[in-house]
Amino acid sequence: MSGVLDLVRADLREFAGYASARRSGVAGTVWLNANESPWPSPADGGLGLNRYPDPQPAALRAGLAALYAVAEECVLLTRGSDEAIDLLVRALCQAGRDAVVVAPPTFGMYAVCARLQDARRVEVPLLDAADGWMLDIDAVIASARDGGARIVFLCSPNNPTGEIVPREAIARAAVALADQAVVVVDEAYGEYAGQDSAATLLPRHPNLAVLRTLSKAHALAGARIGALLADPALVRVLRNVAAPYPLPTPSVRAALAALQPPVLAETRARIAGVVAERERVHAALSALPGVRRCYPSQGNFLLVRFDDAETVFRRLLSTGVVVRDMRGNPRLDDALRISIGTVQDNDALLAALGAGRTAA
Ligand SMILES: *Cc1c(COP(=O)(O)O)cnc(C)c1O
Repeated sequence: MSGVLDLVRADLREFAGYASARRSGVAGTVWLNANESPWPSPADGGLGLNRYPDPQPAALRAGLAALYAVAEECVLLTRGSDEAIDLLVRALCQAGRDAVVVAPPTFGMYAVCARLQDARRVEVPLLDAADGWMLDIDAVIASARDGGARIVFLCSPNNPTGEIVPREAIARAAVALADQAVVVVDEAYGEYAGQDSAATLLPRHPNLAVLRTLSKAHALAGARIGALLADPALVRVLRNVAAPYPLPTPSVRAALAALQPPVLAETRARIAGVVAERERVHAALSALPGVRRCYPSQGNFLLVRFDDAETVFRRLLSTGVVVRDMRGNPRLDDALRISIGTVQDNDALLAALGAGRTAA
């Protein structure tokens, strides 16, 4: 094969996308090319929102390239990683023909985007083993082969089960599927994990893509800023498939502010605090009567099985503590997913469960 472009839908390889006013590359001082208002709104607040935003602001692209330690041309800025998932499925899967591989229980957007594109979903269930959840990478590779998959979605750490996919397994899948599929590693919770990003594997594997987001550890869920890290050829194709102006100006500002060194230092300190709290809450829950199992986690959440999840869920709600009910999933019919909050939040959770206040 000649490269990752061979994995893109044949009808989109040369597709140039919408030629928006901001992409024409022209320069000037009198801007009359985009039917914008020449005046900011009286309520603008200095943001200059009368102008369409840069589709891929260079400063943010450079900032995220530095943060994730990849070359700038390997970065596609996206409206959250949700947009990246959607772009990948649309650009790689021909409707009614191609498939994606997912390993449930996992993040629901992979299946939603596949359904919207009429791509088949090949499921390779995670193994619920004695020492925790585990991805069967050989089964993933075999199913991708048999099922004609164009994308393999690996979530690491996985939402909601919390385990990581070992780098060796990611690399093996990328090699085994080099002529067939893009291996997508969703690292929405990568900051909380004790493993290097799969982005370090990108130079050796053109059919690998890594999804990062500022929504979780960087505390910008409301700004909707994500990044896809991949081979520059794939980045260019996806950019042409994306909406003309995916990133609102205020969101780009917020993201740039979040990348300032003092903010990053505070973010790193908070991540360390969340990891410490995750281990404290894990230990407290594991010791609680009525808890069948609290799985180890490398994310900022815990998946917990209860003898009576219904009663626990309602008791928590009655004290104002809202957790995620996972019981709609047949393999998690006794499970709740609990995000790690502040020390006070976590104490409120433990108190409502009868664990009392525990020493930090
Ligand atoms: C939260 C989450 C996302 C969504 O990220 P956005 O950047 O906010 O769109 C992506 N993947 C997983 C696994 C998540 O849990």
